[in-house]
Amino acid sequence: MAEVKRVYKFGAGQTEGKAGMRNELGGKGANLAEMSLLGMPVPPGFTITTTTCNEYYTLGRDRVLSLLEADVRSAIAFIEGEMGAKFGDRENPLLVSVRSGARASMPGMMDTILNLGLNDEAVLGLAKRTGNPRFAWDSYRRFVQMYGDVVLGMKPESKEDIDPFEEIIEERKRAKGITSDTEFTAEDLQELVVRFKKAVKDRTGRDFPTEAMEQLWGAVLAVFGSWMNDRAKLYRRLNKIPEEWGTAVNVQAMVFGNMGDTSATGVAFTRDAATGERLFNGEFLVNAQGEDVVAGIRTPQPITIEGSRRWAKLKGVDEATRKKVAPSLQEVMPKVFEELDAIEHRLENHYHDMQDIEFTVQDGRLWMLQTRSGKRTGKAMVKMAMDMLAEGLIDEKTAVERVEPEKLDELLHPVFEKAALSKAKTIALGLPASPGAASGRIVFFAEQAEEWAEKGEKVILVRLETSPEDLRGMHAAQGILTARGGMTSHAAVVARGMGKCCVSGAAGIEVDYSKRELKVSGGLYKEGDWISLDGSTGKVYEGQIATSDAEMDADFAHLMELADKYAKLEVHTNADTPRDSKVARRFGATGIGLCRTEHMFFEGDRIKAMREMILAHDLKGRQAALAKLLPMQREDFEGIFEAMAGLPVTVRLLDPPLHEFLPKVESQIQEVAANSGVTVEALKARIEGLSEVNPMLGFRGCRLGIVYPEITEMQTRAIIEAALKLKKKGIEAKPEIMIPLTGILKEFQNQRAVVLRTAEEVFREYKDRVNFKVGTMIEIPRATLIADQIAQEADFFSFGTNDLTQMTFGFSRDDIGKFLPYYLEQGILKVDPFRSIDPEGVLELMKTGVTKGRGAKKSLTIGICGEHGGDPTSVGYCHELGMDYVSCSPFRVPIARLAAAQAAIR
Ligand code: ADP
Ligand code: MG
Ligand code: MG
Repeated sequence: MAEVKRVYKFGAGQTEGKAGMRNELGGKGANLAEMSLLGMPVPPGFTITTTTCNEYYTLGRDRVLSLLEADVRSAIAFIEGEMGAKFGDRENPLLVSVRSGARASMPGMMDTILNLGLNDEAVLGLAKRTGNPRFAWDSYRRFVQMYGDVVLGMKPESKEDIDPFEEIIEERKRAKGITSDTEFTAEDLQELVVRFKKAVKDRTGRDFPTEAMEQLWGAVLAVFGSWMNDRAKLYRRLNKIPEEWGTAVNVQAMVFGNMGDTSATGVAFTRDAATGERLFNGEFLVNAQGEDVVAGIRTPQPITIEGSRRWAKLKGVDEATRKKVAPSLQEVMPKVFEELDAIEHRLENHYHDMQDIEFTVQDGRLWMLQTRSGKRTGKAMVKMAMDMLAEGLIDEKTAVERVEPEKLDELLHPVFEKAALSKAKTIALGLPASPGAASGRIVFFAEQAEEWAEKGEKVILVRLETSPEDLRGMHAAQGILTARGGMTSHAAVVARGMGKCCVSGAAGIEVDYSKRELKVSGGLYKEGDWISLDGSTGKVYEGQIATSDAEMDADFAHLMELADKYAKLEVHTNADTPRDSKVARRFGATGIGLCRTEHMFFEGDRIKAMREMILAHDLKGRQAALAKLLPMQREDFEGIFEAMAGLPVTVRLLDPPLHEFLPKVESQIQEVAANSGVTVEALKARIEGLSEVNPMLGFRGCRLGIVYPEITEMQTRAIIEAALKLKKKGIEAKPEIMIPLTGILKEFQNQRAVVLRTAEEVFREYKDRVNFKVGTMIEIPRATLIADQIAQEADFFSFGTNDLTQMTFGFSRDDIGKFLPYYLEQGILKVDPFRSIDPEGVLELMKTGVTKGRGAKKSLTIGICGEHGGDPTSVGYCHELGMDYVSCSPFRVPIARLAAAQAAIR
């Protein structure tokens, strides 16, 4: 049996992995190997595979440790050789970091441990060898803290609980009268270590492990264990990352950014992740280690002079102040910058994509610690793809694939109205961390953001800084405001990933969690007060500000052009008004796939006529009421057909149960009774009579038209007359009349006959004709099974996947709130089938429907008009089924166009 390889080395001519091995090595491990292969300065190390993580869960801890033992020891020996130091040695100790790294990047999801290998003796050796005791004790202090948090479980459960380590640090600062960690002396740090270890002993009852190998195994197992922690699970769910993937573990020789003023650590992007501009940018901190930059503890400095100048301009500070407060790496360490810039260029050319890199400078020497394709906003995603296409870095298909359809959503969403904005009062200025405009009421805690959002409130989550525990709250909020942190802070990175508006590091705002207050110069805002954020400028405003539609730029238009070039599916829209139709056309819809006529009956006076129709006791009464509705419907259709001139418009005949149109509350019942000249009692009896036990499966859809053919007649007449009137004006209407809820062939035949008969009547009256089609929704499971019969008489099918899903699962869509969340949490269902087509059941029925339908009539037009029409995964399925079009809400049209292109390219 072939030996399973679980450990892959990287560094100095011995690299065993490469970028293509991401599945096994995780993103971080694969790219560390790749950078080593490219000859870039990467500290040597090794990666334990993702498969091993899965083995940890199937075989158990002991078995996995014994499987790893020999390979890990030999890999450690390799690092020792490279670094000329010995793991666990007291004179010349090799220190390593232990880093998790899944296939897909999961920022901040799993914790890294730095400086592993230190103990009370090794720290002295390190101090002596480097001649820098402060550095040695700082490293040790950090190690005990991180190891305590991640491996020994010292980290508090909730952010509002006290972190024992932070408390010790604060105590020491108070005792010394200092405000920053950087002012600690070696003796202070030594004292902290002693107290940290005591805290560990007190809390866990066990001594802090001193033996390097024991420390290492503890850390490796903790990384495996973290794959199943709540934060990681939530992130995976939000980002649709499968649990089976597992995480790799990277063990890597430490390099030190905390050795003094010639050392530093930083993160950078090869292009601007917010705007897409081709500008090398990022942040660094002198004499710092690890995640200090993103933790928002100290304010980081920009990488380039350009970045520093822009910062100064934003903050309104002069050149002298800029040089003092935020000098760039380019100025502070010009040689290092030059090398970094060259590497940055090479990486982009190598990966053909914008890279997000992490580096450390140890005593003037640059080390690369990570590279990955950077997260970006929707706007940046489109601009980068189109720029890189123009630069010849990628081809058209790659450019189309580069943009995540869902991300386009951000571009299509509103921005603040200029007029409203000019009157708004700016109360603070932060960094433009993630673009977009948001108004909401202030909340200070993530849980609260969730609670309020559930109640339908719009909220802005305001925090000193955010951490992964805040993820749910950030998701629920309209926008995020933080007092601390830079452009690469947790809040900024995560918000950009979510496409949420975020302003970070708003200096001058004071957040008081206990009083639930936000103080700015000259103002006090309490929980529940309205504020507004502009994530593109970093401005924070008082109150609520009106928004207006986003404008689509040339890059966007170019992308859409490319999408249409490759897509096979057409994208239609669901629209009930001329206004929506126009919006959808602007977004590129080539037809209306679903025009719901019932929505028209709710406006203004129409509901009165509608109620009159429903309450009528006989045919005569109904006809009289329908006669009032006819001209209104005709006018609606004229408007819509005109907006969609030359394009098909699928009109669905009346679908919902009639009682939905009747009044529900007492006051309304009285009013309706008075208006229609019946007693309240009589009306109530009528409402009672119409009410149903299970309306979704009740008197609705074509069943209405079969019992009351006069409704179908009126609607057909309105549609055909509208088309004829437009024809007179030289406008081509292409009506397609759609019978809802067909499940039995005779139902369809019955309604089709009414439509055809009525149309002929109208043609005779007008002495003119128009072309039109008659088809049906396929939304009852039975309809998919007899699709061949229906197809013989229907011109088109449109899959109504909302009802089809509802009836296939037997889930009432209005009641799933009670159990679907549990289903998703427990993995009984992987995705909400109302958001993305169920690939096993519902899709199978659709396949049957398409095959039988097309088998009976080759020319049958087939589309889909459920919510799923705007879901990229579902669009992919529709492409595979060979459908003609998908139909979705106007704002999702570009998303569907792009998804359709990607499905065709794959
Ligand atoms: P994340 O996945 O959260 O980004 P990383 O594993 O990249 O976590 O670690 C976070 C940071 O820790 C890195 O950006 C780097 O600054 C620091 N770090 C990790 N490994 C080393 C190392 N071997 N030497 C120096 N710093 C390191
Ligand atoms: Mg991290
Ligand atoms: Mg990292």
